Amino acid sequence: MDNVEVFDAGVKGRGLKATRDLLAGDVVFAEPSFSAVVFDSLSTAVCHNCFRQQANLHRCVQCKFAHYCDRTCQTACWNEHKKECAAIRSSGSAPSENVRLAARMLWRIQRDTGVVSDGQLTSVDELVDHVSDLTDEDREELQIDVHKFMDFWPKNPRKPQPVEYISHIFGIIKCNAFTLSDQRGLQAVGVGLFPNLCMVNHDCWPNCTVILNHGNQSALNPALHSKRRIELRALEKVAEGVELTVSYVDFLNLSAERQRILKKQYHFNCTCKHCTEHIKDDLMMAAKEGEGSKPSAELIKQVTTASEECLEKVAKCRLQGDFHGVSCLWDFIENVLADTHLYKLRLQSTASEVLSYMHAFAEAAAYSRKTIDGYMALHHPTNAQLGMAIMRAGVTHWHAGQIEVGHELICKAYGILLITHGPNHPITQDLESMRRQTEMELKMFKQNEEVYRTMREAALKKQPAKAMAENSSTEEKIEDVSRKQ
Ligand SMILES: [Zn+2]
Ligand SMILES: [Zn+2]
Ligand SMILES: [Zn+2]
Repeated sequence: MDNVEVFDAGVKGRGLKATRDLLAGDVVFAEPSFSAVVFDSLSTAVCHNCFRQQANLHRCVQCKFAHYCDRTCQTACWNEHKKECAAIRSSGSAPSENVRLAARMLWRIQRDTGVVSDGQLTSVDELVDHVSDLTDEDREELQIDVHKFMDFWPKNPRKPQPVEYISHIFGIIKCNAFTLSDQRGLQAVGVGLFPNLCMVNHDCWPNCTVILNHGNQSALNPALHSKRRIELRALEKVAEGVELTVSYVDFLNLSAERQRILKKQYHFNCTCKHCTEHIKDDLMMAAKEGEGSKPSAELIKQVTTASEECLEKVAKCRLQGDFHGVSCLWDFIENVLADTHLYKLRLQSTASEVLSYMHAFAEAAAYSRKTIDGYMALHHPTNAQLGMAIMRAGVTHWHAGQIEVGHELICKAYGILLITHGPNHPITQDLESMRRQTEMELKMFKQNEEVYRTMREAALKKQPAKAMAENSSTEEKIEDVSRKQ
């Protein structure tokens, strides 16, 4: 914790500021989870220790609920799982993820009594819970969780847990928990609590980002193993004394919408520069600049409504991989909305994804190119989601046989992920090998285009472009950098 100190951030409460000058890509701090759990829906597909998603996990023979890569992951997790394992066995089944997380937090609090480590900036108890600010609906939900918790928690008549305290824990989870993604950053797989990270305040245009590092359990010598942890990484130069911030929401929403989400989930009014001055709102709702004539406000309103309907339709079609539903309104939208218009971007991104899925890579590449051009005009230049989108666009171009653009985009994405994820993250390492592969292919292409095309076609016949389906993902899936919504 040499790089940060706690300070009084006024209405925002406590905050963290840099105690020395930081550079883009610097790890400000790393922090293992206080507690974390795998989502209910993925409990058999994701390792409960390292949160990697993989096939053939071994399950805990006692509770038959927890799943692990191997003995190493199981042993590493036993301390965290031991009491949970017994509670699952005695209650007959595992409760929902929220209840499991609350229980793990309480067991941890009991285990840690009085132990404060050097790197600890706050205790879990001190985190804000906002229980008194909850809407009736949210409070009802919280009470249901508290009841389920009471059923699950081992009965000890000498030391019953007071209801208020359990509510406090659930309140903390609700506004402080951080969503964890799998090793490829494609899917949210669990949720955890990182107390030091909770001290970092929000800004819609932040100077830091946070990613999950899954740790290393593969070394032969367990002494060389590292734990899964989050890393707070600087996105740009941050001078000594400046407050460190991360974004809790996706920037690609109008400022009023971001403020609404933040108010509902985290109970504060965002007064960041981008919200107060509505920066980039105009771009996100902009009309296409025609030759001398702008489309009328009435027309834009019509198209905006049409694209809203179209997005709904597309969401349905996407489930079936049916692209025809998307194309119906396309020309209309294309001619009226600017390339940075939010609805157009969402439509294009979906179109690119569905087309990739259908192996129509050339069309998918064209849409992905336009999408990232829009993203680049809106996002912070080293935004993690931007990096992931450029990576997907690069892969799409590569699959479409457009090796020059493909390689260029993959290099660009690599440059961003070196800062947001660091050189050792599995996604960055994937990108590095794609970068080398496309570089080699590009050389081949430049030497003899004919030979390159023949070889490529032969390779495609042998192995249908399966990798693309794995690399494409929905926008929701890459929201690994934003907190649980
Ligand atoms: Zn594992
Ligand atoms: Zn077990
Ligand atoms: Zn804001």
